[in-house]
Amino acid sequence: MSTWIPVSQPAFLGNERAYVDRCMETQWISSIGEFIPKFEAQFASILGVESAISCCNGTVALHLSLLGLGIGPGDEVLVPSLTYVASVNAITYVGAQPVFVDSDRETWNLSVDDLRRKVTPRTKAILVVHLYGRPAAITEICELAREIGLSVIEDVAEALGAKYDGRMLGTFGDVAAFSFFGNKIVTTGEGGMVVARDPTVARRILQLKGQGQDFERRYWFPVVGYNYRMTNIAAAIGLAQLECFDEHLRRRSEIDAWYREELASMPDIKLQEFGEREQPVCWLFSVILERVDAAGRVEVMRLLATEGIDSRPFFYPCHTLPPYRAGESVVELPNAEWLSARGLSLPTWIGIDRGRVEVIARNLQRCCLQLRGVLEGMS
Ligand SMILES: *Cc1c(COP(=O)(O)O)cnc(C)c1O
Repeated sequence: MSTWIPVSQPAFLGNERAYVDRCMETQWISSIGEFIPKFEAQFASILGVESAISCCNGTVALHLSLLGLGIGPGDEVLVPSLTYVASVNAITYVGAQPVFVDSDRETWNLSVDDLRRKVTPRTKAILVVHLYGRPAAITEICELAREIGLSVIEDVAEALGAKYDGRMLGTFGDVAAFSFFGNKIVTTGEGGMVVARDPTVARRILQLKGQGQDFERRYWFPVVGYNYRMTNIAAAIGLAQLECFDEHLRRRSEIDAWYREELASMPDIKLQEFGEREQPVCWLFSVILERVDAAGRVEVMRLLATEGIDSRPFFYPCHTLPPYRAGESVVELPNAEWLSARGLSLPTWIGIDRGRVEVIARNLQRCCLQLRGVLEGMS
């Protein structure tokens, strides 16, 4: 279908092709090469931190983050249930127990009140996710963590460039994990990055991602490590993307503004409103279809698809997925479940123009009305 509008698509605005060509010409295509340290340095400078550690995807970045903090069997990690499954799987990889926290209906991020309620003597860390580009209440969460002696891991996979209280996300927690999957704000195809505040933690992460090899003694492995390295080709793409980072963010916020203008004051479609302390980024422009349930949303998506418009439902809350369903006890996280059933993400990528946004908005509006039966008999 030539007129199909996907939800997401990467945008290459700069030197991507030239840098990848240089990898090919110089034959540095594996995990050693000039682009890896350059990409890491550029990333660190955007975040305003000393250093950053590249790795092969965002899930691995989360795994390394938890390993770096020494989280393991017997530990509980608080995590929002409404997130991409990778946040929760990483906790499972280290043998720790994810403890699901409900969301806030307005911000879609984890509820600080519910967070307090879920703390037990075994709680070791909070894995905070900044969902759909919107900052969680990270200042408050870090205060709570400090009060009771917990570590904080930030999952910034969907929110690179967003700020809270004027400060870049990923600089609040003890460790932060980023993703460069094809649909993220910056992509390397597959890729990830870890930022750690404590140099000892950073060093441990660096060692673990390279099979655990000793820094001084080649082929000597004092610990069981992993091969979680990024390739020079991926870093080449990433560096080119970061060189145009401001432009990527600018174009995304333009799309956000167009959607808001088109969808303002629609009774069925709830847009996010942001507080003064939040400076979000537009990862996937998402709305809540307030008056429909999950079945109604499926119908809206089907109707949009007949007009060539792709859309995505919100994630299932992880506490409802087979590996994470509680045995006898029924876990209820009403806000996560409510949001999950009604959230919808719309096409958001650089290259989409205002005309297309208008068409998408008009169709969404029509689909919602149609669903309510308002258009019954007219069509
Ligand atoms: C994309 C994503 C990840 C994992 O990233 P991959 O690079 O796909 O492994 C982790 N957490 C969240 C919230 C994500 O959206």
